[in-house]
Amino acid sequence: MVKKNKQIIIAGPCSIEKKEQLYNLMEKIHHNIDVLRAGIWKARTSPNDYPGIGEIGLPWLKDIQQKYKTPVAIEVGITKHVELALKHNIKIFWLGARTTANPFAVQELAESMKSLDIELWIKNPIISDFRLWIGTVERIKKLGINNIKIIHRGFYSDKKINYRNAPNWELLKKFKNYFPELPILCDPSHIAGQKKYIYEITKKAFLQRIDGLMVEVHNEPHHALSDKLQQLNPKEFENLLIKLNYPA
Ligand code: PEP
Ligand code: MN
Repeated sequence: MVKKNKQIIIAGPCSIEKKEQLYNLMEKIHHNIDVLRAGIWKARTSPNDYPGIGEIGLPWLKDIQQKYKTPVAIEVGITKHVELALKHNIKIFWLGARTTANPFAVQELAESMKSLDIELWIKNPIISDFRLWIGTVERIKKLGINNIKIIHRGFYSDKKINYRNAPNWELLKKFKNYFPELPILCDPSHIAGQKKYIYEITKKAFLQRIDGLMVEVHNEPHHALSDKLQQLNPKEFENLLIKLNYPA
């Protein structure tokens, strides 16, 4: 067991693809995580990309949650996802970067969750528009949802950069000043796009005093059906935590 410190550690596959993949992975990482992230509905840029396993994965996640006494979080993009997840006792949701850029979608999803005992994580919108970012969060808070965490996953950039998405630490600072009460996590996987950058990004995020990490981990990243270049295998994930010097 590497993890001991106070930062929240969320990890799991970009997408769950098979039952055995999920169970094998969880066996290897459960002792190092606070929450398992698992994509089952994927908001893919191209309609030809893997869309996620869908509803079939929900009973597995329910079982995993019970077996390891570790909460599971999934991405929701439409209200039907929320309804189905709740039926399987999944109560932590995140809104992806494509969803948080759409006020209609955010409004409808947040309305479907208000007054429920859920936790909601909000990724930054795909473009670095500060007003859009804070507007999304305000929209959700206005409905009385306060059990919120923010995830910085970088912003789309049309400049040539090494990373898949550009982090913006200055904007993150501005955001923190605007919502000092909200925990902010970093998703180095979607910033990096390639696993070799994850450590350096995470180090920079820690300098910003972030409250935790969301990292994509897959038991066989080279066979993953989505985001294969950026996913760590369980050993690499453990090494990352060791290198980050847990407990810090
Ligand atoms: C994901 O978490 O797998 C994902 C698709 O993230 P984002 O919405 O940040 O692109
Ligand atoms: Mn992903």
